[in-house]
Amino acid sequence: MRIAVQIGHVNGKAGAAYEEETLKLVFPHVVQRLKDSGQSVTTFDGSLQNEDGRWQYDFDVAVFLHCDSYAVTNSGYSIGYWEEEHPGSEKLARVMKDVYSAASGLPFVGYNITVGEHHYYGNRRFTHRTKCVLIELGFVSNPTERKFLQTNSQILAYAVADSISLYLGRPAEKTPSKEEDGMLYEGDGKKFVFEDCYVARYNYFLHTRGESKEITFTLTSHETQIPKTSDGQDLHGHKVHNLQDVAAYSKTLTKGSYVLECDSDSSIHWAMREVPK
Ligand SMILES: [Zn+2]
Repeated sequence: MRIAVQIGHVNGKAGAAYEEETLKLVFPHVVQRLKDSGQSVTTFDGSLQNEDGRWQYDFDVAVFLHCDSYAVTNSGYSIGYWEEEHPGSEKLARVMKDVYSAASGLPFVGYNITVGEHHYYGNRRFTHRTKCVLIELGFVSNPTERKFLQTNSQILAYAVADSISLYLGRPAEKTPSKEEDGMLYEGDGKKFVFEDCYVARYNYFLHTRGESKEITFTLTSHETQIPKTSDGQDLHGHKVHNLQDVAAYSKTLTKGSYVLECDSDSSIHWAMREVPK
């Protein structure tokens, strides 16, 4: 696979105080780790911002490395992606969040916390099929966190690199059926909250197990509490149900969070898979 790795600001517009020096410690390890895992890596720097072109680079993944800066007390990392321009980037962002969280122990501030992070200029330099993710590794304005980032640069860099390899390796690991691929939400209970269902790009398949009789599911918008079913939808056990079909009477689902409740007497096992359309 072909990976683009950008070190922010270097040879371009200045970043925050201490940002470049911190990035210079992390960046080489990201590149080396990816090369060691067999990826083809091309490096970019801050001069990318001064280029005029649109979508002139074609890669499988582009990752943009930055550090955040605000008050001395701020802490944590954040991740940006522009899903509409680079479909699939959201999944890479989620994998990176999990891996980086485990490796760093830093709090996760959020996704796309600023417009600059969400619609970062780097997104405009790469083809739409390139999965683009920006990571603010932590706050260099916080002296303690800055020291942590610099001292642990290799560990943090490996986390970024490994999350990309993990993401890229997933499709090759198996030969998925359409319903069995995809991100999985799983648990037991009678009420399930599915956050950030992105129905324009994904189908959501509900698998249930363990119900003793026919049960009725009711789907409700988490934000508005508005029911998406008029009288529920009867589902039979051990089947795959498309979430859209649970929304009866053609109430089209939109991007958002949903609550599914069932009238089963006892807890059932459920799983929701998110499959690209
Ligand atoms: Zn920056």
